[in-house]
Amino acid sequence: MMIYALDVFIVLAGLCIGSFLNVCIYRLPNPDQSIVFPGSHCPICDTPIRMYDNIPVISYLLLAGKCRSCRTPISMRYPIVELLSGLTALAALLKFGYSWEGLVVYLFVAVMLVVTFIDIDHQKILDVITLPGTVICFLCSFFVDWITWQQSLIGILAGGGSLYIVAKSYLLLTGKMGMGGGDIKLLAMIGGLTGWQGVLFTIFAGSATGTVAGLMLIAAGRFTNFRRKIPFGPFLAFGAVTYLFYGKPIFYWYIGLFH
Ligand SMILES: [Zn+2]
Repeated sequence: MMIYALDVFIVLAGLCIGSFLNVCIYRLPNPDQSIVFPGSHCPICDTPIRMYDNIPVISYLLLAGKCRSCRTPISMRYPIVELLSGLTALAALLKFGYSWEGLVVYLFVAVMLVVTFIDIDHQKILDVITLPGTVICFLCSFFVDWITWQQSLIGILAGGGSLYIVAKSYLLLTGKMGMGGGDIKLLAMIGGLTGWQGVLFTIFAGSATGTVAGLMLIAAGRFTNFRRKIPFGPFLAFGAVTYLFYGKPIFYWYIGLFH
Protein backbone atom coordinates (compact mmCIF):
# COMPACT_ATOMS: atom_id res chain seq x y z
CA MET A 1 0.00 0.00 0.00
CA MET A 2 1.24 3.46 -0.87
CA ILE A 3 1.29 6.02 1.86
CA TYR A 4 0.61 9.56 0.72
CA ALA A 5 1.59 12.76 2.50
CA LEU A 6 -2.06 13.79 2.66
CA ASP A 7 -2.94 10.55 4.49
CA VAL A 8 -0.26 11.25 7.09
CA PHE A 9 -1.50 14.81 7.43
CA ILE A 10 -5.09 13.63 7.97
CA VAL A 11 -4.09 11.21 10.73
CA LEU A 12 -1.93 13.89 12.42
CA ALA A 13 -4.89 16.29 12.18
CA GLY A 14 -7.00 13.60 13.86
CA LEU A 15 -4.50 13.41 16.74
CA CYS A 16 -4.51 17.21 17.15
CA ILE A 17 -8.29 17.41 17.02
CA GLY A 18 -8.21 14.71 19.74
CA SER A 19 -6.37 17.22 21.89
CA PHE A 20 -9.21 19.70 21.35
CA LEU A 21 -11.77 16.97 22.13
CA ASN A 22 -10.08 16.54 25.53
CA VAL A 23 -10.63 20.24 26.17
CA CYS A 24 -14.32 19.88 25.20
CA ILE A 25 -14.74 16.84 27.50
CA TYR A 26 -13.15 18.75 30.35
CA ARG A 27 -14.78 22.16 29.87
CA LEU A 28 -18.18 21.73 28.14
CA PRO A 29 -19.98 20.35 31.24
CA ASN A 30 -19.08 23.59 33.01
CA PRO A 31 -20.92 26.37 31.12
CA ASP A 32 -18.78 29.09 32.77
CA GLN A 33 -15.66 27.91 31.00
CA SER A 34 -14.91 28.88 27.42
CA ILE A 35 -13.58 26.04 25.30
CA VAL A 36 -11.14 28.43 23.61
CA PHE A 37 -9.74 30.65 26.42
CA PRO A 38 -7.65 30.44 28.47
CA GLY A 39 -5.12 28.03 26.96
CA SER A 40 -4.53 24.63 28.58
CA HIS A 41 -3.04 24.64 32.05
CA CYS A 42 -2.30 22.02 34.67
CA PRO A 43 -5.44 21.55 36.81
CA ILE A 44 -3.30 21.06 39.93
CA CYS A 45 -0.55 23.72 39.83
CA ASP A 46 -2.21 25.95 37.20
CA THR A 47 1.01 26.29 35.17
CA PRO A 48 0.18 27.00 31.52
CA ILE A 49 1.09 24.05 29.31
CA ARG A 50 3.78 25.02 26.81
CA MET A 51 3.36 24.43 23.12
CA TYR A 52 6.07 21.75 23.04
CA ASP A 53 4.42 19.91 25.95
CA ASN A 54 1.11 19.87 24.12
CA ILE A 55 1.99 17.54 21.24
CA PRO A 56 -0.65 14.79 21.10
CA VAL A 57 0.43 11.43 22.64
CA ILE A 58 4.19 12.23 22.19
CA SER A 59 4.32 14.82 25.00
CA TYR A 60 2.54 12.47 27.35
CA LEU A 61 5.19 9.81 26.68
CA LEU A 62 8.12 12.26 26.91
CA LEU A 63 6.82 13.64 30.22
CA ALA A 64 6.19 10.07 31.44
CA GLY A 65 2.60 11.07 32.17
CA LYS A 66 3.48 13.82 34.66
CA CYS A 67 3.09 17.62 34.74
CA ARG A 68 6.45 19.26 33.95
CA SER A 69 6.33 21.69 36.87
CA CYS A 70 4.52 19.88 39.72
CA ARG A 71 5.05 16.23 38.63
CA THR A 72 1.39 15.40 39.32
CA PRO A 73 0.38 12.39 37.19
CA ILE A 74 -1.71 13.31 34.13
CA SER A 75 -4.71 11.11 33.39
CA MET A 76 -4.17 8.38 30.74
CA ARG A 77 -7.49 9.65 29.38
CA TYR A 78 -5.76 12.45 27.47
CA PRO A 79 -3.47 10.38 25.21
CA ILE A 80 -6.20 7.72 24.85
CA VAL A 81 -8.70 10.25 23.46
CA GLU A 82 -6.02 11.68 21.14
CA LEU A 83 -5.14 8.20 19.91
CA LEU A 84 -8.79 7.24 19.40
CA SER A 85 -9.32 10.42 17.38
CA GLY A 86 -6.24 9.71 15.22
CA LEU A 87 -7.28 6.08 14.66
CA THR A 88 -10.79 7.21 13.73
CA ALA A 89 -9.34 9.56 11.11
CA LEU A 90 -7.33 6.62 9.73
CA ALA A 91 -10.33 4.27 9.77
CA ALA A 92 -12.57 6.84 8.03
CA LEU A 93 -9.85 7.42 5.43
CA LEU A 94 -9.40 3.69 4.72
CA LYS A 95 -13.13 3.08 4.52
CA PHE A 96 -14.35 6.22 2.69
CA GLY A 97 -11.26 7.72 1.07
CA TYR A 98 -11.04 11.49 0.48
CA SER A 99 -14.75 12.22 0.52
CA TRP A 100 -17.56 14.08 2.28
CA GLU A 101 -18.62 10.73 3.69
CA GLY A 102 -15.22 10.20 5.33
CA LEU A 103 -15.20 13.72 6.78
CA VAL A 104 -18.75 13.44 8.13
CA VAL A 105 -18.09 10.01 9.69
CA TYR A 106 -14.88 11.27 11.33
CA LEU A 107 -16.59 14.35 12.78
CA PHE A 108 -19.53 12.27 14.00
CA VAL A 109 -17.24 9.82 15.80
CA ALA A 110 -15.30 12.75 17.30
CA VAL A 111 -18.55 14.14 18.76
CA MET A 112 -19.47 10.65 20.02
CA LEU A 113 -16.11 10.48 21.86
CA VAL A 114 -16.96 13.74 23.62
CA VAL A 115 -20.49 12.51 24.46
CA THR A 116 -19.11 9.20 25.76
CA PHE A 117 -16.52 10.60 28.14
CA ILE A 118 -18.77 13.38 29.45
CA ASP A 119 -21.50 10.77 30.10
CA ILE A 120 -18.99 8.55 31.95
CA ASP A 121 -17.80 11.49 34.08
CA HIS A 122 -21.09 13.28 34.75
CA GLN A 123 -23.89 10.81 33.83
CA LYS A 124 -25.40 13.30 31.45
CA ILE A 125 -25.56 14.03 27.75
CA LEU A 126 -25.45 17.75 27.05
CA ASP A 127 -28.16 19.49 25.01
CA VAL A 128 -25.47 21.88 23.81
CA ILE A 129 -24.08 18.91 21.85
CA THR A 130 -27.17 16.95 20.79
CA LEU A 131 -29.53 19.77 19.77
CA PRO A 132 -27.18 21.52 17.31
CA GLY A 133 -25.84 18.03 16.50
CA THR A 134 -29.28 16.92 15.29
CA VAL A 135 -29.55 19.94 12.98
CA ILE A 136 -26.02 19.39 11.66
CA CYS A 137 -26.70 15.68 11.04
CA PHE A 138 -29.78 16.68 9.06
CA LEU A 139 -27.71 19.15 7.00
CA CYS A 140 -25.08 16.43 6.42
CA SER A 141 -27.74 14.29 4.75
CA PHE A 142 -27.41 16.63 1.74
CA PHE A 143 -23.70 15.75 1.39
CA VAL A 144 -23.44 12.02 2.09
CA ASP A 145 -24.51 9.24 -0.24
CA TRP A 146 -26.10 6.81 2.22
CA ILE A 147 -29.11 8.88 3.28
CA THR A 148 -31.54 11.42 1.79
CA TRP A 149 -32.88 14.38 3.77
CA GLN A 150 -36.28 12.70 3.95
CA GLN A 151 -34.70 9.57 5.46
CA SER A 152 -32.77 11.80 7.85
CA LEU A 153 -36.01 13.44 9.08
CA ILE A 154 -37.65 10.05 9.57
CA GLY A 155 -34.53 8.92 11.44
CA ILE A 156 -34.72 11.93 13.79
CA LEU A 157 -38.39 11.21 14.54
CA ALA A 158 -37.73 7.48 14.94
CA GLY A 159 -34.77 8.10 17.25
CA GLY A 160 -36.46 10.67 19.45
CA GLY A 161 -39.83 8.91 19.35
CA SER A 162 -38.77 5.34 20.05
CA LEU A 163 -36.70 6.06 23.14
CA TYR A 164 -39.38 8.48 24.34
CA ILE A 165 -41.94 5.66 24.21
CA VAL A 166 -39.61 3.27 26.04
CA ALA A 167 -38.83 5.88 28.71
CA LYS A 168 -42.52 6.80 29.14
CA SER A 169 -43.65 3.16 29.48
CA TYR A 170 -40.89 2.47 32.00
CA LEU A 171 -42.05 5.49 33.98
CA LEU A 172 -45.68 4.32 33.87
CA LEU A 173 -44.77 0.75 34.87
CA THR A 174 -42.29 1.50 37.63
CA GLY A 175 -42.92 5.12 38.58
CA LYS A 176 -39.21 5.81 37.99
CA MET A 177 -37.29 7.47 35.22
CA GLY A 178 -35.16 4.73 33.69
CA MET A 179 -33.61 6.60 30.86
CA GLY A 180 -32.48 10.18 30.76
CA GLY A 181 -33.87 12.75 28.34
CA GLY A 182 -30.30 13.11 27.11
CA ASP A 183 -30.37 9.56 25.70
CA ILE A 184 -33.52 10.42 23.73
CA LYS A 185 -31.98 13.52 22.17
CA LEU A 186 -28.78 11.60 21.41
CA LEU A 187 -30.75 8.93 19.57
CA ALA A 188 -32.59 11.63 17.59
CA MET A 189 -29.21 12.99 16.52
CA ILE A 190 -28.02 9.48 15.59
CA GLY A 191 -31.21 8.95 13.58
CA GLY A 192 -30.50 12.14 11.66
CA LEU A 193 -27.37 10.59 10.20
CA THR A 194 -28.30 6.89 10.03
CA GLY A 195 -32.06 6.83 9.36
CA TRP A 196 -34.54 4.55 11.11
CA GLN A 197 -32.49 1.45 10.26
CA GLY A 198 -29.55 2.98 12.11
CA VAL A 199 -31.81 3.82 15.06
CA LEU A 200 -33.00 0.20 15.33
CA PHE A 201 -29.46 -1.10 15.00
CA THR A 202 -28.15 1.39 17.58
CA ILE A 203 -30.83 0.53 20.17
CA PHE A 204 -30.19 -3.18 19.64
CA ALA A 205 -26.38 -3.00 19.65
CA GLY A 206 -26.37 -0.43 22.49
CA SER A 207 -28.64 -2.54 24.72
CA ALA A 208 -26.71 -5.74 23.98
CA THR A 209 -23.26 -4.28 24.67
CA GLY A 210 -24.60 -2.29 27.64
CA THR A 211 -26.07 -5.44 29.20
CA VAL A 212 -22.86 -7.42 28.69
CA ALA A 213 -20.77 -4.58 30.13
CA GLY A 214 -23.15 -4.25 33.10
CA LEU A 215 -22.97 -7.99 33.84
CA MET A 216 -19.17 -7.93 33.58
CA LEU A 217 -18.97 -5.00 36.02
CA ILE A 218 -21.28 -6.81 38.45
CA ALA A 219 -19.22 -10.01 38.10
CA ALA A 220 -16.04 -8.02 38.74
CA GLY A 221 -17.65 -6.71 41.93
CA ARG A 222 -17.55 -3.12 40.77
CA PHE A 223 -21.28 -2.73 41.32
CA THR A 224 -22.46 -3.99 44.67
CA ASN A 225 -25.60 -1.94 44.25
CA PHE A 226 -27.66 -3.09 41.27
CA ARG A 227 -29.59 0.14 41.15
CA ARG A 228 -26.54 2.19 40.42
CA LYS A 229 -26.86 3.54 36.95
CA ILE A 230 -24.50 2.71 34.15
CA PRO A 231 -24.59 5.52 31.57
CA PHE A 232 -26.31 4.39 28.37
CA GLY A 233 -24.81 7.11 26.15
CA PRO A 234 -21.46 5.39 25.49
CA PHE A 235 -23.24 2.23 24.30
CA LEU A 236 -25.59 4.17 22.02
CA ALA A 237 -22.55 5.99 20.65
CA PHE A 238 -20.77 2.66 20.10
CA GLY A 239 -23.81 1.23 18.29
CA ALA A 240 -24.14 4.27 16.02
CA VAL A 241 -20.45 4.29 15.09
CA THR A 242 -20.54 0.54 14.36
CA TYR A 243 -23.55 1.12 12.12
CA LEU A 244 -21.80 3.87 10.15
CA PHE A 245 -18.86 1.57 9.44
CA TYR A 246 -20.46 -1.89 9.15
CA GLY A 247 -24.16 -1.59 9.91
CA LYS A 248 -25.78 -1.50 6.50
CA PRO A 249 -24.58 -4.97 5.44
CA ILE A 250 -25.40 -6.34 8.91
CA PHE A 251 -28.85 -4.78 8.87
CA TYR A 252 -29.77 -6.10 5.43
CA TRP A 253 -28.30 -9.52 6.20
CA TYR A 254 -30.54 -9.64 9.29
CA ILE A 255 -33.64 -8.50 7.35
CA GLY A 256 -32.76 -11.07 4.65
CA LEU A 257 -33.05 -13.87 7.23
CA PHE A 258 -36.82 -13.32 7.31
CA HIS A 259 -37.34 -13.41 3.56
ZN1 LIG B 1 1.16 20.82 37.43
